[in-house]
Order: sequence, then C-alpha cells, then structure tokens
Amino acid sequence: MAEKVVTYRFNCLEKTLNQMNKVDCAIIAGGTDVMVLHKSRRGVPPQINKPIMFIDHLPELKQIYPKHNNLHIGACTTYSELLEHRLTPEPLKKAIKTIAAPAIRNRGTLGGNICNASPAGDTLPLLYVYNAKLLLRSVNGERVVGIHDFIQAPRRIQRFHNEIVAEIILPDVLLNDAFIVFEKVGNRNADAIAKVSFAGLTRIINNRIEDIRFAFGAVGPTMVRSTSIERKLLGKTTPLTHTDIAATLADFDKIIKPIDDQRSTASYRKTVALNLLKYFLNSIGTMTK
Ligand SMILES: Cc1cc2nc3c(=O)[nH]c(=O)nc-3n(C[C@H](O)[C@H](O)[C@H](O)COP(=O)(O)OP(=O)(O)OC[C@H]3O[C@@H](n4cnc5c(N)ncnc54)[C@H](O)[C@@H]3O)c2cc1C
Repeated sequence: MAEKVVTYRFNCLEKTLNQMNKVDCAIIAGGTDVMVLHKSRRGVPPQINKPIMFIDHLPELKQIYPKHNNLHIGACTTYSELLEHRLTPEPLKKAIKTIAAPAIRNRGTLGGNICNASPAGDTLPLLYVYNAKLLLRSVNGERVVGIHDFIQAPRRIQRFHNEIVAEIILPDVLLNDAFIVFEKVGNRNADAIAKVSFAGLTRIINNRIEDIRFAFGAVGPTMVRSTSIERKLLGKTTPLTHTDIAATLADFDKIIKPIDDQRSTASYRKTVALNLLKYFLNSIGTMTK
C-alpha cells in the first residue's frame, strides 16, 4: 500500500510560517528540483521523508515591485512571469531564456534556483554580481542576508527550518547605469545544464572604472567571485591595458578550480571561464547598453 504523505497548502504566508514553526517541513515551490532529487523508479512517487509545505501559490511570495532604486522579486515568481514583467532587468531575462524549456520555466522559481544552491544554477552568477540580498521571513520576523553568505556549498544554504525566502532584492538595479553581461556555455542553447557560466558588471564614469564585479558558475562548489581581485581594477581608465588584463586573468587562474564530471572536463571549463573573462575585460569601455 502507498505510504501516506502529509502535505500543507495554506492560503497565506502567516499560516504557512506558523505551521513551519511547529513542524520541520520540506518546502516545495515549483518542485522542478525537489521532484528530480527525490525521484525513484518509474511510476513510484518521489520519497520525501518530511511533511511537505507547498508555497508556490502564496501571493505574498509572487510580487515584483520597485523600492527606491532596488527591485524586489517575490521568491515564488516563476521564470515565465519574470520574462513577461516590465521591471525584470534584461540580463536576467537573457539568463532565464537559457534555462530549460517553457514547461519548466512555467513552474521553476527564482527562489528555488537560489535555495537549490547548485553550482550550475543559471541565475546565480548574475545574482552574485547584482549583490543580491535575500529577505527571509519566519514567525520571529525577518532578516536580510547577502546571497554570498546564504549559499554555503552545493545544496547547503543558511536557512533555519522555520524560515522561508520571501524576496530577492537587487540593490540599485533600477538605476540602469551599469554594463552587465551574462554568458552560459552548455551543450545546447536552452534545456542544457551549464558547463560554465559568467556574469560581469561594470560602471564607468568619464572612462574611469567606478565599479566592477565578476562571477563564474559551474567552476567551483559555489559561484566564484573575488572582491579583492575586483578592487585592483577600481579607478583604472578604459580601455584596460594588456598588463591589467593579463594580471586579472592570472589572479583568476589561481582561484578557478573546476572539476571533471559527466558534462565537461576541468581543463575545458577553466579555459572557457578565462576566455569569457578576457572577452569581457577587452570589451570594457567599448560596450554600449
Ligand atoms: C528538465 C529540467 C531542466 C532544468 N534546466 C535548468 C537550467 O537550464 N538551469 C538551471 O539553473 N536550472 C535548471 N533546472 C533546475 C530547476 O528548474 C531550477 O533550479 C528552478 O529554479 C528550481 O525552482 P523550483 O521552484 O522548481 O524549486 P523547488 O524544486 O520547489 O525547490 C528547490 C529547493 O529550494 C527550496 N525552496 C524553494 N523555494 C524556497 C523558498 N522560497 N524558501 C526556502 N526554500 C525554498 C526547496 O525546499 C528545495 O530544497 C532544470 C530542472 C529540470 C527538471
């Protein structure tokens, strides 16, 4: 006989958080990662050894709104909803278009991509260069944590069992004053897991680099970003010299440590990651928004 599964689906966030405070639950948003992770034989339902809390329908987790120059995105906003929304930044739309096929994009959520904490999560390099913050809610109130602190290792995040990621906050993104690129290298244009992904951001005023950030996906256990390497380029004039570009590539060469797996080899990943960085560094100052 099939085992009984306890599931909860409340009509508001408050009731959801109250229940999560009493019982340790497995959260399901779109379920596109959870169902694959727990799948067993064909025809056998996934085995999840905790009560399940569905959150994808909660209106409090689906809003997209501006506040000052920041963009707030409800954690349960699906990729398809983000693609249609006028406030979604273009680079994020570009990244989303590389994710899976429309059926998965209709279910998969931005919060799910973050909380799944895969090194190959396609929105993550961009969220790192946006300096994204996460608003977590529980019965005790709310707290805000930077994405680089929240994601600790593959599938490991800094979340207490009674907390839900409610919003993703993209600081200053509505100023729209930065050049941002996103590139994903995979077997196919969409519906393929990344072998390497890259996001770069720069703000240039009067040919001077005021801000610069890079993040690489799928070349380490979490996104690879180094604020100390970025700081070395602050204040430089554009275009960058060959010496500056070579020094930055050498710095990243030391910290990018990919692995061989079924999707790619470590050496291919490293070469591609450094080529994407080189291309970005060479185009700084020549790019138009
Ligand atoms: C066929 C297929 C193709 C795919 N292709 C890609 C791809 O190209 N690129 C890519 O990046 N991903 C891909 N994915 C993975 C997946 O679709 C994404 O990671 C998606 O964003 C997950 O969102 P979800 O809402 O379905 O998460 P779920 O599966 O519901 O949850 C994922 C994890 O996050 C937790 N969680 C979810 N929401 C919250 C929240 N608000 N607060 C706290 N915890 C939460 C869950 O408990 C779970 O641990 C693919 C998946 C499939 C099945």
